[in-house]
Amino acid sequence: MIKVTLPDGSVREMEKGSSSLDVAKSISEGLARNVLAAEVDGEVWDLTRNLEKDVSLKLLSFNDKGGKSTLWHSSAHLMAEALEFFYPGIKLAIGPPIENGFYYDVDFGDYEISEKDLPKVEQKMLELARQKNEFTRKEISKKEAVDFFTEKQDQYKLELLEDLEDGNITFYQQGNFTDLCRGPHLPHTGFIKAVKLMNIAGAYWRGDENNKQLTRIYGVSFLKNKELTQHLHLLEEAKKRDHRKLGKELELFTFSERVGLGLPLWLPKGAALRERLIDFMKKAQTASGYLPVASPHIGHKDLYVCSGHYDKYGEDSFQAINTPNEGEEFLLKPMNCPHHCEVFKASPKSYKDLPVRYAEFGTVYRYEQSGELHGLTRVRGFTQDDAHIFCRPDQLEDEFKKVIDLVLYVFKALDFKDFVVQVSLRDKENTDKYIGAEENWEKAEAAILKTASEKNLETVVEYGEAAFYGPKLDFMVKDALGRSWQLGTIQVDYNLPERFELEYTGADNQKHRPVMIHRAPFGSLERFIAVLIEHTAGKFPLWLNPEQFTVLPISEKYNEYGREILNVLKNYDIRGLVDERNEKIGRKIRDAEVNKIPFMLIIGDKEASENKVSVRRQGHGDLGTFSVEEFAKIINQEIEEKLLQFEN
Ligand SMILES: [Zn+2]
Ligand SMILES: [Zn+2]
Repeated sequence: MIKVTLPDGSVREMEKGSSSLDVAKSISEGLARNVLAAEVDGEVWDLTRNLEKDVSLKLLSFNDKGGKSTLWHSSAHLMAEALEFFYPGIKLAIGPPIENGFYYDVDFGDYEISEKDLPKVEQKMLELARQKNEFTRKEISKKEAVDFFTEKQDQYKLELLEDLEDGNITFYQQGNFTDLCRGPHLPHTGFIKAVKLMNIAGAYWRGDENNKQLTRIYGVSFLKNKELTQHLHLLEEAKKRDHRKLGKELELFTFSERVGLGLPLWLPKGAALRERLIDFMKKAQTASGYLPVASPHIGHKDLYVCSGHYDKYGEDSFQAINTPNEGEEFLLKPMNCPHHCEVFKASPKSYKDLPVRYAEFGTVYRYEQSGELHGLTRVRGFTQDDAHIFCRPDQLEDEFKKVIDLVLYVFKALDFKDFVVQVSLRDKENTDKYIGAEENWEKAEAAILKTASEKNLETVVEYGEAAFYGPKLDFMVKDALGRSWQLGTIQVDYNLPERFELEYTGADNQKHRPVMIHRAPFGSLERFIAVLIEHTAGKFPLWLNPEQFTVLPISEKYNEYGREILNVLKNYDIRGLVDERNEKIGRKIRDAEVNKIPFMLIIGDKEASENKVSVRRQGHGDLGTFSVEEFAKIINQEIEEKLLQFEN
């Protein structure tokens, strides 16, 4: 007998050689129908693979990452089988699961394939799925494997085999299809109930443009038809909310090839939105005791050699800027931290001066490959809402708390309600790859965990994910479509204070090293605004909206009155425009709705003579008639409720 320990700590005695599927069945038949794979001692396995010794076991369903990827990986094999049916002799390269489905890279040789052919492949896949063909795993010698693919004339698999060691090679087979594969896979194809092949793209073998271009077919699959329908709906919705599309429609930002790829240009409305976010953060930071600092966009190469950033970004990033002084080199700054370390050193510090919190909206530059660039989410120049806190080890916990409070305030003001906090700690088994004193690490890790639990944050702890220089905490935020984004990060750093030889004089009159915290609640303004656009579908919170209202005169006669209203509202710090176009009022309302302007103030004869406005709320319809001052109160009250004063 062997002992199988389940995640809740309970232990099951099983016959040696039982499979994870047997374990599932011993718990309940219903459970057995819903599990797709098993995590055995931390490794994802086929459900049908035999357990030969005591293990810890977690059964994985579609809701687990490992379950999902097993379903999708098996679907890639199923697609390959269907493709071989229609196109015998094709050569298969790689077919992995990805974040949202799977793909297979295929060399179609002389065959032509287009998206029109995908439905028939889907149908074939479903037909094969219904046969409930088992996925069988087979350990195979390298020679046999080479013979198999030589016979098949598949040079891609043969190339993959070159890198594999004999004794470590497995084949998976289902129906008429055999693949070189590490697995794991579903018990049989019958789990795959719904399939959609999404699109076809080109992909170079091994991602190298000197190699042959292959055909990549993307697909996704589910256990139920309903889940596929939901998924496709979500994709449609995501397309509508794409920040690149909305950014253009709302006139927020643009890109120009002449300026350079990945270098966003903010248009007046977008720049105003950005300024407003900056002001909002500055206010909260001032309340939290941050001090603004400012540093240049470039720094001497030696600065980044000292910080270690040169090693990390030097070769693969923007190249050095040379000066008329021979041998002198500057770099565009990839990070603000080294500059802030030098700010700290500008004057001697005593323990009473700490903590110091330096904040800067610093623009940094990193050379991303052109294929990696994507709207505002992956750019080559971006502005971080950066700050560095230098504190004593005994102040770390308090500082951490304050940063978390600030991040939570930001999320609340911007309607991000659903998030999980990922705490990245050291790999316990392997502590010598980390810099900094053992006791400081222990203190810092304990402080992070304690703070997160005191704030009642939903936490996932990842061991081994800490940076070599310190533990960190990341906020993973779910947007309105349920997609997860990493926003807001807090990192403890023992490394830079060491490299820059930062110190303060302690109460004992001795020199000590401060601890450094890096934090950025937004992350970068560019990425944050992209996420905000997709989360809100362009309906920004009222306080942030570039245009909070628009005055809609029903005819040109009332334009003058419209301008007066504008001036009055300006005094209340409320932003808007007058739509003076010679258009029908119906058209003006429609345009304002499309542009997601929160309030529409409609004025005609009656309103002008009574000195009032008829108010319409975007998406809600008419609110009634008010004086301009009353309207100002309505709007300001709504804003105040959202932005309750931040105190820290
Ligand atoms: Zn595979
Ligand atoms: Zn930093």
